[in-house]
Amino acid sequence: MNVITYCLKIENDSSDLYYKEISLISDKVVEKIKSSHSLIINNFVSFIKRSGIEECRSNEEYILEFLTIGVLLLVYEDRAKKLKLIPQKALSYLSRVRNNTKILKPGFNKLKGILSTMFLDKNQIDSISFEKVYFSDFINLLRWMEASGDFKFSLERLVNWYKFLKSESKEYKNEVISKAISAAKWFKIEGSKSLSKYTWGVNNFLVKNHPGYRFREDVLFCGRKEIEYHLNMVGAEILNKVFRKDFIKTKSKMVLVPSCMRFHNDANCKVKKTDKGYFCASCSEACKVNKLSKIGGKHNFKVYMIPHESEAFSKGKILKREIGVVGVACVLNLLEGGWRAKSLNFIPQCVILDYCGCKNHWHKEEIKTDINMGELKRVLQI
Ligand code: SF4
Repeated sequence: MNVITYCLKIENDSSDLYYKEISLISDKVVEKIKSSHSLIINNFVSFIKRSGIEECRSNEEYILEFLTIGVLLLVYEDRAKKLKLIPQKALSYLSRVRNNTKILKPGFNKLKGILSTMFLDKNQIDSISFEKVYFSDFINLLRWMEASGDFKFSLERLVNWYKFLKSESKEYKNEVISKAISAAKWFKIEGSKSLSKYTWGVNNFLVKNHPGYRFREDVLFCGRKEIEYHLNMVGAEILNKVFRKDFIKTKSKMVLVPSCMRFHNDANCKVKKTDKGYFCASCSEACKVNKLSKIGGKHNFKVYMIPHESEAFSKGKILKREIGVVGVACVLNLLEGGWRAKSLNFIPQCVILDYCGCKNHWHKEEIKTDINMGELKRVLQI
């Protein structure tokens, strides 16, 4: 098999072992941060309740956010520090307008690729070399994330931490940030030990292929480090566990799948456009989307195909009633997708593509992707 960055199938051509392992690893990560940093998490929960900035979420979700701060600082702190104010403002503005226009989007995408390569992707060295981190580094990171336009919903989560810390003492702010870094350093080692067998292709891809992504719109997305893959894997599992009970209770459910799972290409696929995504017209018995849609017909869930990750929930309307959604996506879209779905009041679950291969980002001719059907059935309880 042509592994581009990751592959969950390592035993008997199946990803069953991955799903067993990730469940154990995610529990271990939650327990470790709970035992080492419970005071910070409790203080943050108290702040959320006191300030009323959002309905209080579970400790596990806040633990994941705390870990995300550390991991993103490890990866981007150096680049964030180097980003000057004018390109930061220009890129942030570009990200906002780009999301609100369909006609001009291709032009804006080109511009984003050029500016991102020039100002956001400068340093490929792991920022892990730095010794001391401060609250000001966290602020730089938030600005960098805003400018990138690729972290919209992660940013939304982390801004609450900024609101929490900004009125605390200087010592406490710096202490929280440095503890998030310690948690991320521990996670980097643990993640490598257990998950590198699934993500061994990432470093190879970054060295051999990623230089060819210069000036492309997805230069940052495809340039993610291995630790970010691990964060997405563990984070998705944490969110799946948190939302599972509520998801099962929802009366209406849907599954969103990427177009790289279908049998035919754009020219021959007969999908019909609806306001929720594309609906399969059953033109091919060999098509996995068609098979999934038939299972949906029997078990009362709808299947929609989404041509690009940015188009999932693109209407951006906050739901009045709860709908369960299973997002099928490649590893790098899991956390953003989960947080985006939750921000619109969906009750999310996810199933990971066993490997990536879409032509939007990874392969010129596209490799047809697949999922672990057993895992999808387990998630949907069918
Ligand atoms: S079966 Fe459905 S998703 Fe598959 S190629 Fe045909 S219309 Fe497209």
